[in-house]
Amino acid sequence: MKVELLAPAGDLERLKVAIEYGADAVYIGGKQFSLRARASNFSLADIKEAVEYAHQRNRKVFVTVNMIPHNSDFEGLRQYLEQLDEIKVDAIICASAAILALAKSMNLNMEVHISTQQTTTNSVAISYWQNKKADRIVLAREVTYENLKEIMKETTLPVEVFIHGGMCANFSGRCVISNMLTNRDANRGGCAQSCRWSYHLYHHDSCLDKEGQLLSMGSKDMCAYDYLQRLLDIKVASLKIEGRMKTAYYIATVVKAYRILIDEYYQNGTISEKRLNEAAILFKRGSNRESFSGFYPGIPDINGQIYNNDVMANQSYLANVIDYSAGVATVEVRNYFRLNDRLRIFNPVGEDVYFNVDSLVDLNGETVEIANRPMQVLKMKVPVEVNTFTFITKSEVERWD
Ligand code: SF4
Repeated sequence: MKVELLAPAGDLERLKVAIEYGADAVYIGGKQFSLRARASNFSLADIKEAVEYAHQRNRKVFVTVNMIPHNSDFEGLRQYLEQLDEIKVDAIICASAAILALAKSMNLNMEVHISTQQTTTNSVAISYWQNKKADRIVLAREVTYENLKEIMKETTLPVEVFIHGGMCANFSGRCVISNMLTNRDANRGGCAQSCRWSYHLYHHDSCLDKEGQLLSMGSKDMCAYDYLQRLLDIKVASLKIEGRMKTAYYIATVVKAYRILIDEYYQNGTISEKRLNEAAILFKRGSNRESFSGFYPGIPDINGQIYNNDVMANQSYLANVIDYSAGVATVEVRNYFRLNDRLRIFNPVGEDVYFNVDSLVDLNGETVEIANRPMQVLKMKVPVEVNTFTFITKSEVERWD
C-alpha cells in the first residue's frame, strides 16, 4: 500500500491547489467543532463541493472535528456528524474520546482518526484507541524516528505522522500560553502563537538577555524530507503537512516537492540526491522560517529553537493566473515585479519554465512598467500554456539584462 500524502487547506481554492499539485488527501476544518477558528473554515456547502472535487479525482477529504469539547459543546454534534457522513466525507479527525465514541455509536461510513492533539507517543496508547475502534492514529510530532520504528513493529492500526510544517514549543495541543497571555484558547483554534513573540528574560529585577536583544520561545518549523525514505521504508500510512493557515503557493511548493520524492521512491525504491536537492529548492521558495527535522533525529536541543524572531523575507510569489488564451496570461498581482524582469512559471506538473516579461499591459492595453498594486489584473505574454493553478514567481535572476 502506497503512503498517502496529506495536505492542509483553509479554503476551497487551497484544497484544489493541494489536489492539483499532488496531494492524495486534504484535511479541512468545518465551521463547527474544529480548531483553527481563524482559518477560513468550510461551510457544509463548501465541504460538499470539496468532497465532490476530490472524489472526481480519486482523492480524499478529511474534516477536523478536533476541538477539546466541554459539556456545553455537544449540542448539534450528532447532527453535524450525520451531515458530514451524508456528503461522503472520508474521515473526521477528532481529539476527544467522547467524539470518537459518539461517531462510532452512529455506524457512520466515515473513518475516525485520532488527532495529534491526543499526544499519542507509544504503542500501548495506540492499542487503546484501536480497541475503541479508531481507524487511524495521528502520532504526536514529539516522537523520535527510533521510537517510531518500534511503534511500527508493534501496531496494526494505520499510523499517520507529520513530515512538514509548524511545530509547537510545547507538546502540540498541551499549551495554554496563548490562553494565559491573550485569553485566546489554543484548543479552540485561537492560538495567538505567543511562543513566537519576543520576550525579555528577567531574574528578579535583572534582565538576563543582552540589552535590546529579545528572546523567543518558538520552535523551528519541521521540514523532515531527509527522513522521508526511512518513513516510507517502515510503511507509515500517511505523511501529514501542517498549515491550514498557509497560502496556496506554500501548499503548492511543499506538496509538489513531496510528490516528486514519493513518486521517485515508488518508481526506483530509493530517493536520489538530485531529487532531494530539487525538493530543497522548492521548500525554500514557500517558507519564511528556519526549519529542522523535528523530533526524528532525537529530542531537539537548542538548535531546534528560534531564539530571535527573524523572519526571512519571502516574496517569490508574484502573481497567479486567472485566465489564459493564445499565449497571453491574465494574472492577478501579489508582489512587485517589472517589465523585462526574468520570471518563472511554476506548474503542478513538470519542470519550471523561465521567461522574460517583454509584454505587460493593463486591461485597457496600456503598457505597465511596474506591477506593484496587489490584486491588480494585468496581461503578459507567456512562452507555454498556463492555467489557473499556475503561479508566476521570481526567478533566481531577477533582471534579464
Ligand atoms: S503558543 Fe506556541 S506552543 Fe503554544 S499552542 Fe500556540 S504555537 Fe503551540
